[in-house]
Amino acid sequence: SQDPAVAEDETELAVEGALRPASLAEFVGQQKVRGQLQLLLDAARIQQRPPDHILLSGPPGLGKTTLAMIVAHESQRPLRLSSGPAIQHAGDLAALLSSLVPGEVLFIDEIHRMARSAEEMLYLAMEDFRIDIMVGKGAGATSIPLDLAPFTLVGATTRSGLLPNPLRDRFGFTAHLEYYEPGELEQVISRSAAVLGVDLPRTARAEIARRSRGTPRIANRLLRRVRDYVIVHGKSASSATDAHVAAALELYDVDAIGLDRLDRAVLDAVVRRFRGGPVGLSTLAVTVGEEAETIESVVEPYLVRIGFLGRTPRGRVATPEAYAHLRVPRPDGALR
Ligand code: ADP
Repeated sequence: SQDPAVAEDETELAVEGALRPASLAEFVGQQKVRGQLQLLLDAARIQQRPPDHILLSGPPGLGKTTLAMIVAHESQRPLRLSSGPAIQHAGDLAALLSSLVPGEVLFIDEIHRMARSAEEMLYLAMEDFRIDIMVGKGAGATSIPLDLAPFTLVGATTRSGLLPNPLRDRFGFTAHLEYYEPGELEQVISRSAAVLGVDLPRTARAEIARRSRGTPRIANRLLRRVRDYVIVHGKSASSATDAHVAAALELYDVDAIGLDRLDRAVLDAVVRRFRGGPVGLSTLAVTVGEEAETIESVVEPYLVRIGFLGRTPRGRVATPEAYAHLRVPRPDGALR
């Protein structure tokens, strides 16, 4: 994304790491999922075996990587991080799996983007901790079975619907992470503010929470921008006021309800360019100059969740709330 408020660089990623909760108890919200994971981890500990494979789905920034780290930390197992796009061939996966130490937690982010050939190898590995390595070509090809150390796979995906059923079925536990409520984001912000050493009045925390798109990663980023603002413009480098929050968020183009530039571009295209829709996903993607997958898995879920966008069989449609937010009068004869 080109949005400066959400730009990633290495320092930002390092700070993000420092803000990650290390235990289930510190992990805010997602109460149901937390309870389910706790049971899974407790049972594995009692039986002294690796926890079952876990699939986490949901939009970016809701805590999937953090939960994988917590699973490793709470079960006192080493963690290996990888991602679907890094696994281009079955051989990449074979190398990864055969180098795991017993009981290791393997996190594969964006698991839906792994190569097809690797997916098939993964089925067997997840079920039997075994893979078959093909040697040679054509009529002389043979497969050599290779035993693996038992491991726990934690897969993350923004769209569990994109995973083939045989893969999805091999996870012992599947959880979908939901957007966070403002009150929960306030807790995330309070915790992060303490780590970063900034003081904020409750009203300022609430304002950041309201404008974080239901997403802890965004809440933490906006908080860091507020902290920057205070360091430069504040009377004291460690205490932020409501005015600092308002000024910092204004500077970074975060609107009153937290929509960023891409959210607004999508809404604007549906409302103005396509007169409220319906408009197909690929047309919409071309219009705003973004990948269809990003629109579908990052932008739309939030706009649908806040009731600005509807999905119909004929395409995306804008709701009256979307018109009101953009301050565009609805065309006469609007269907809704
Ligand atoms: P994902 O893998 O889903 O994209 P991450 O696990 O990387 O998301 O989380 C992004 C950031 O948000 C991290 O800095 C993490 O500390 C924070 N975060 C996510 N979920 C929570 C939570 N429930 N409580 C506290 N912080 C969270």
